[in-house]
Amino acid sequence: MGRDDGNGFVRCSFGHLHWGLHGAAGLLLIDPERGVLLQRRAWWVHHGRTWALPGGALEAGESPREAATREAREEAAIAPELVRPTASSTVDHVDWSYTTVLATVLRPVNERVANSESAELRWVPPDEVGKLPLHRDFALAWPALREELGRELVLVVDAANVVGSRPDGWWRDREGAAERLRGKLAALEKNGVRGTDFEVPGDAWTWWPRVVLVVEGQARGVVSVDNVEVVQAETDGDSAIVRVVKEARASRPEDHVVVVTADRELRSRVRAEGAAVLGPGALLRVLDGG
Ligand SMILES: [Zn+2]
Repeated sequence: MGRDDGNGFVRCSFGHLHWGLHGAAGLLLIDPERGVLLQRRAWWVHHGRTWALPGGALEAGESPREAATREAREEAAIAPELVRPTASSTVDHVDWSYTTVLATVLRPVNERVANSESAELRWVPPDEVGKLPLHRDFALAWPALREELGRELVLVVDAANVVGSRPDGWWRDREGAAERLRGKLAALEKNGVRGTDFEVPGDAWTWWPRVVLVVEGQARGVVSVDNVEVVQAETDGDSAIVRVVKEARASRPEDHVVVVTADRELRSRVRAEGAAVLGPGALLRVLDGG
């Protein structure tokens, strides 16, 4: 038995012909110094000679994020550990879909044409993308993709307020409750979150948030793990949360910053700093898969 690599054409419900039996995905990689990485497709592939993204068909059981990073490695020699996926946008044609995975370089990457589906790779400043002969579907998607290029969803979680919102005995073990919350937040990195569940507009968008968990009092022993930065409040949690929001807004004003708390005074303080606000119940529904 060979692997199900998903190679093949699909006729979608709208009558289009698309590549990828399980759908397809591409990587939109940005290097703030150089622009976005585009690929000119070999003449013999579907829509050959046009400019688009490294990408291709999903293999059976593969997520779009996995497929996009795998294809970028196969076609452009991009090492997955050098890029951080931030968000994705899906065009859904019922029996076929295409997901564009937006990612930012963590360190400069040395791309090179690595297989025969790619004819040329080029870093293109965002302003100049529209001047190239683009693949039809990429040309249609580009304006909306550009809006979110290089932006992150930053989730700032008021641990005491979130764990306190449920009467499950958390007060007997505040540190344990905060650790369980941290574990669930870390797990968001697998599938990401729908932007619309976190006050970020756009039905088609999924985000892999940068999570900051602010702990105080008896939960101060909780430490950072992969994908969750834990901030230990020196005095009160509210001031620490406002400070985290201010720093995030000052260093990267383009990001979407969302604070999770039910505290009314804190809500108005962080809104004044330009953050959006979400209630603990809404976060817990996402974390518990409800
Ligand atoms: Zn279609």
